[in-house]
Amino acid sequence: MDGDDLLDDARRLARRTRVEEGGGFRLSDHDPAGSVGDRLGKERAKEAIAAGVRRLAELQDRLYAQDRWSVLVVFQAMDAAGKDGVIKHVMSGVNPQGCEVHPFKAPSDEELDHDWMWRCARVLPSRGKIGIFNRSYYEEVLVVRVRREILRAQKLPPSLVTERIWEERFEDIRAWEKHLARNGTRILKFFLNVSPAEQKRRFLERLEDPEKHWKFAEADVRERGRWDEYMQAYEEAIRATSAPHAPWHVVPADDKWLCRTLVAATIVEALEGLDLQYPKVSPERRGELDAARRSLLEEA
Ligand code: ATP
Ligand code: MG
Repeated sequence: MDGDDLLDDARRLARRTRVEEGGGFRLSDHDPAGSVGDRLGKERAKEAIAAGVRRLAELQDRLYAQDRWSVLVVFQAMDAAGKDGVIKHVMSGVNPQGCEVHPFKAPSDEELDHDWMWRCARVLPSRGKIGIFNRSYYEEVLVVRVRREILRAQKLPPSLVTERIWEERFEDIRAWEKHLARNGTRILKFFLNVSPAEQKRRFLERLEDPEKHWKFAEADVRERGRWDEYMQAYEEAIRATSAPHAPWHVVPADDKWLCRTLVAATIVEALEGLDLQYPKVSPERRGELDAARRSLLEEA
């Protein structure tokens, strides 16, 4: 099988990661290891990803030329699940001018002086572009929910902070994503589903390999201690915000090559579904282009 066939296979697998109706969603139905039959092995995965990257480069060129749709790709995960690696590998072939990556960390003072969507809204991808959110507004119903002291620091008027706050935030996210979808933004949301055992192995690797020391943060181990609370928050968020126009993809992340392949396959599939075309040239414009061509050829 060549890379394109492997990619087509991966597209079939990737469809199973899709959640577009959150009603009965349970995280426990999704194995971080993926099912045994899905494993491609690193070499075959690399071929599939290479095929995906080629496809993405072509699709992105048309997206940009057509200038109608924009694509918003959200990545959420526990630490060391592989967000950075996915972004690096999957987006490696796309024209940097048509793609922007935005990481969202703990908010700055300026950001805290605005509503929580503000910092994400101002960097949304414009038409023709792919915007990648490395973490996102979903942190507002994940880390902020698990660590209540963050909510207390958000400078909200106290009367607005009630026990309904999470349901209200879900409602706001749903309305916001609907609004974006109705205006031509194709939304894709990925939860990279890593197991606590694999996270531990990756943390230990970071502590043992001098070239990976920089990736280690004490805070990550602290958050790991809240694993179950995080998983509950993720489950509820995915349940509340999955929709056909803004699906979640719960991607097995213990095998990073499988994970990268499934993400590449999902993005290719989504862009192909947009029927991206180079703009058609009108007969008048065709005449103008021919005239320009003639005058160039006639130059002395
Ligand atoms: P990596 O660790 O691979 O560099 P990362 O995305 O984990 O990537 P960090 O610099 O470790 O980046 O930190 C991001 C931290 O900021 C996360 O712990 C995240 O939960 C937190 N964060 C993101 N958004 C918010 C928010 N709105 N409020 C509070 N904390 C947030
Ligand atoms: Mg981190």
